[in-house]
Order: sequence, then C-alpha cells, then structure tokens
Amino acid sequence: MKKLMAANWKMFKTWDEACATARELIEFVADNLPEDREVLVFPPFTAVKGVAEIFKAAEGFSAGGQDYYIKEEGAFTGEISPAMLRDAGAVYGLTGHSERRHVLGEQDAFVGEKTSFGLACGLKVVLCIGETIDERRGNKVEEVLERQIRIGLKDVSAEVAPEDLSVAYEPVWAIGTGEVAGPEEIAEAHAFVRKILISIFGDKANEMRLLYGGSVKPDNCAEIIALDNVDGVLVGGASLQGESFSKIVLAR
Ligand code: PGA
Repeated sequence: MKKLMAANWKMFKTWDEACATARELIEFVADNLPEDREVLVFPPFTAVKGVAEIFKAAEGFSAGGQDYYIKEEGAFTGEISPAMLRDAGAVYGLTGHSERRHVLGEQDAFVGEKTSFGLACGLKVVLCIGETIDERRGNKVEEVLERQIRIGLKDVSAEVAPEDLSVAYEPVWAIGTGEVAGPEEIAEAHAFVRKILISIFGDKANEMRLLYGGSVKPDNCAEIIALDNVDGVLVGGASLQGESFSKIVLAR
C-alpha cells in the first residue's frame, strides 16, 4: 500500500502561485519519489486544472478538489460537481474537513452524502474526521470518531475499492495550531478508526489508507508516518512551500 502524502492548500494561492508550487514539487520530488509514496495536492478550485495539467507529466502525482456538491449539475449557485472536478483533472475529492464542519457548518449527514456521491461519480475520496479539544477533554474521542465514520460512510457501497476510500484523522485542536497529536494519541485513534472500518467493510478495510493531519511538518513527519495504521498524511500550512512539502513527501 503506497503512503498517501497529501497537501491541502485551503484558500491559498492564485493560479500562478499554485502552478509554480506544483512545478517546484515535481522538480524536488519527481525523480526520487519512492515506490511506496503517492503525492496528492488539493489546490483551490480555480487552480485544480493548472495543477492537474502539470502533474500529468509526473507518475505518482495527482490533484483533488477540496469540496464539491451532491448533484451532477443544476441551479446550485456557487457549487461545483464531482464531474466538473474530474473534467478539470481532479482524481480525488475531500469531504468533512474540520473547517467545513466547524466554519461552514456542515453536518455529519451532509458529509456522508458528499462522500458516497463523490465515490459514485468516480472520484477517490478522503473523508476527514476528528474531535475538538472539548470532546477530547470530555473523553468523547471514540464516540465522535465512530459517529463521524458511520454517518460519513453510511451510503458508501460495500463494493467500494479500498484504494478509492481513505480516512484522514485530524484532531481539530491540532490543525493549524502547531500542536501535533502525540504518537500514542495518533496510534490509538488510528487503531480505533481501523476497527470501525473493518466492522463496516470487513477485511478490505485493512487496505484503506488512514491519514493523519494536524501540524505535520518536515521534522515530525518521519515519526508519524512510521506509526502503525498511519498510511499517509494530510498537510496544510507546511504544504504551501514546495521545499517544505517535498521534505514531508520524502520523510523517512
Ligand atoms: P495544518 O492543517 O497542517 O496546517 O495543521 C491540516 C489540515 O487542515 O488538513
């Protein structure tokens, strides 16, 4: 199973800036991308096509959309469909990111609709889950993660190909704060997520990738990626510069 090294550029970068960083990544990484690594970048919508075109030339690199709506097309001002993302060259879609849950107010059920719809439309999907600091302090981590997984995957077909569905554990308190979860916290949460996925999909859940996200940096990535049940990372701040994200992609 290849480790999925994913960059979430959030609402940063114009077309030119995104393309420049995508080229830098290829320059730093493409010739020595290890067999067991895959690179994924989620640019803002306006730059998906530019990044996807640049990545076409590089084996093991792909682009994704940070969000999408649950219809093929229609009168949904401001929204974008999985088909449009695919047309722009996106291979992946992201659902349930904590900023969409906590800033934009997305609820578990809507996240679930997006996840199953994206998969049905041919996107590979990374579903993000994670507890807030209050939920951790209140000993609710497992309850929250289980709810987010079960509702988030409620309508996903049992036939889903395991490589098409990944889950990113991103404790909300570790996102953009510089406060990374400790190795034990990560390993414990990932083992729990794996257990729930197995209860839903059976053995093939062992082939689904579990990503960790939350203040991943070049100097902590090697330790995180070596933990049991960590099959990749989802990186925000430290993915914005080509050099820094390259170090993360190659970390051992
Ligand atoms: P961060 O963001 O790496 O800046 O903490 C991670 C994310 O939001 O996916």
